[in-house]
Amino acid sequence: MTSPHHHAGGSPARKLSPNQSKILGCLREAGEPMSAYAILDRVRKSGIAHPPTVYRALNDLMKRGMVHRLESRSAFIACGHGECDGRFAFAICRACDKVIEIPLGEKEQARLLGLAPAEISPETVTLEIAGLCESCGLAQASPA
Ligand SMILES: [Zn+2]
Ligand SMILES: [Zn+2]
Repeated sequence: MTSPHHHAGGSPARKLSPNQSKILGCLREAGEPMSAYAILDRVRKSGIAHPPTVYRALNDLMKRGMVHRLESRSAFIACGHGECDGRFAFAICRACDKVIEIPLGEKEQARLLGLAPAEISPETVTLEIAGLCESCGLAQASPA
């Protein structure tokens, strides 16, 4: 039987394993979405040599809400708020890959989950909005 860890709201996270903190540090430093292989490349010099190690640490960090996955590009990004409860959407610039995390209210998330048909009991929702950021929009509007 697996017992999910209960998070007391807002309490500081339990200690990260060395691998988890290396990978979280790498993503925070990058500040942009990275594929698991790009992460592996970056942390290789600190002793993490195998993809399963990276995936395991990423999964744990995602469960803690400290890392999120961008489904549309199979990439990972550090939570924009340090840590969150999984209620968020992303806005992504399609030109420069800038990502902004948008917190979703309880009602908003409930409405999205409520779109699921009766035969699927909804658990999570992934929402990614693509567009152009301000500077890419300007760059495209004014040809050099
Ligand atoms: Zn977050
Ligand atoms: Zn952009």
